[in-house]
Amino acid sequence: MNDDSNENEKRLPAHIVKHPCFSAIASRSYGRIHLPVAPECNIQCNFCIRKFDCVNESRPGVTSRILEPIEALARVDEVMAGGSDNTVVGIAGPGDPLFNPETFETIRLVGEKHEDMLYCLSTNGLLLPDYVSTLKRLRVTNITVTMNTLDPVIGAKIYSFVKYDGNVYHGEEGARLLLQKQIEGIKAAVAEGMAVKVNTVLIKNVNFDEVEEIAKKISSMGVYMHNLMPVIPQFKFDASHRPSPEEIARLRERCGKWLLQMKHCRQCRSDAVGKLGSCDGSPSCSRSSC
Ligand code: SF4
Ligand code: SF4
Repeated sequence: MNDDSNENEKRLPAHIVKHPCFSAIASRSYGRIHLPVAPECNIQCNFCIRKFDCVNESRPGVTSRILEPIEALARVDEVMAGGSDNTVVGIAGPGDPLFNPETFETIRLVGEKHEDMLYCLSTNGLLLPDYVSTLKRLRVTNITVTMNTLDPVIGAKIYSFVKYDGNVYHGEEGARLLLQKQIEGIKAAVAEGMAVKVNTVLIKNVNFDEVEEIAKKISSMGVYMHNLMPVIPQFKFDASHRPSPEEIARLRERCGKWLLQMKHCRQCRSDAVGKLGSCDGSPSCSRSSC
């Protein structure tokens, strides 16, 4: 599937055609406002160092300043004042949005005032089944779930632990629980009419050979789009685990037989604002140059 020509933009709903991540065409015209209100995480991915933003959605090396929900509202007010081409408010970390009550309070506060925006979040999926109806009530229309494997044996190499309902699970047990919740949550979100994107972190010699199976599975579940992201070498994975651009392109070709591939992801910060890849102008931006 081709990310531009097969989108058939005119027949798709607004939460696709006006969302810069769910539509390559929309990314040329519209931007998003990420609100960094969710610092905590309930799992430990072996490619994540928690002092940075969640690497499922973000690049390491910069850390967002956490905002309180009321500060997040003020940021949206400021960005939207006097007109803006931002169409989406998203919560993408820096931890797992569903593990932080501030996420819901923020979407409620901002949603009451900015009714025309689309609302979106990314998650590891562990708590998604518990919160799909809450998200629906809050008018969240777009969800991204990071799913890295369908096999608990492989999952045991990717996740150190999974915390759920007061218990901590390790190894295959933790990976199995996470997978079960991801599948349950994705099905529930699709059934509620939400657009679901799945991110898969590509780790050579770990999950790389399984990725087409993931594409096949999520396509059968009604997932709209798949985003293959090369692992960022850190913590338990090094440069030997990172696939080359050519390897990623070949894999996208194969997975594209099953569902639309996202090729325009910029691995943004959890406080990014504006069109993908443009200067985000964020008050907490720590880069000295762009
Ligand atoms: Fe890190 Fe995100 Fe994984 Fe949590 S879900 S451990 S924040 S990469
Ligand atoms: Fe969109 Fe990728 Fe940035 Fe997320 S990380 S906002 S999917 S471009």
